[in-house]
Amino acid sequence: MMNPILAVGSVAFDSVRNPFGEAVHVLGGSATYFSVAASFFTDVRLVAVVGEDFGERELSVFAGRPIDLAGLQSVPGETFRWKGEYGFDLNTRETIYTKLNVFEQFQPAIPAGYRSSPFVFLGNIHPRLQLEVLDQVNPPRLVAADTMNYWIQRTPDELRAVLARVDVLIINDAEARELSGEANLVKAARAIRRMGPRTVVIKRGEHGVLMTRPGEGEFFAAPAMPLEQVFDPTGAGDTFAGGFVGSLAASGETTDAAMARAIIYGSTLASFSVEDFGLDRLLRLTEDEIRDRFRHFKRLTYFDEG
Ligand code: AMP
Repeated sequence: MMNPILAVGSVAFDSVRNPFGEAVHVLGGSATYFSVAASFFTDVRLVAVVGEDFGERELSVFAGRPIDLAGLQSVPGETFRWKGEYGFDLNTRETIYTKLNVFEQFQPAIPAGYRSSPFVFLGNIHPRLQLEVLDQVNPPRLVAADTMNYWIQRTPDELRAVLARVDVLIINDAEARELSGEANLVKAARAIRRMGPRTVVIKRGEHGVLMTRPGEGEFFAAPAMPLEQVFDPTGAGDTFAGGFVGSLAASGETTDAAMARAIIYGSTLASFSVEDFGLDRLLRLTEDEIRDRFRHFKRLTYFDEG
């Protein structure tokens, strides 16, 4: 049997503006992107909360995929809302607002059947909630986590408590620098590893990904797929995490080779996600397309020693 993934994070209504267009009030959130991406690989058990404004139309995004919604609570109030604006190169992003709404009072209750999930993903959300999830599960084989500048700045102590219990931290370059206080990414990754996670995966947007872990293969790097059509990078990080953890869970391995393969699957899924606004591209993605682009990644960096 494939290993299911227990995933907590935000389910959101996003508004996104960039030089090429605008999307208002579209479905997003860290747990949403993660679940849809990971569901191409294995079963996902989603733990999150939504408000009364979250209807059948939004729920239908999860339908027909191996995403179990028993841990998705629906409560009175409004769903989490986030608005972001991107600069011309799509690499810089400014948060216009973050409205936690129903997440303010949320207490995750992990269904009994979820507690022995072998793979756990703590998506970007209040670190207190990430801890409450960890407190309710039996020791998983692998815990991966993501976070964001919002939480690095506001809840540093709780975030440190999460990091002490995480195997893999997946964050972007600016966040790695902020969290470690180091400008150099190699130093930043090593400093973060001293906080707990054995493996640190640093997402560098259009510059690809850098993974560091102890041992001979301390560094593994992958480029981003060169794309002519990049519309909306929102959710690329969570989509990457979905492909990465999904691939590890599907193989059941956490060797250096499995980790490297997972980086390429993560990069593959993320490369699709940015091709359209919101979740649109992921929702029409096929397994054949994933396989083709995964292979394309290999050609991208192949060279002959001569
Ligand atoms: P990414 O582009 O991968 O960094 O993730 C963007 C997603 O994260 C959006 O869909 C937002 O709804 C969600 N998000 C933004 N800020 C936060 C936050 N402070 N906590 C949880 N989720 C957030």
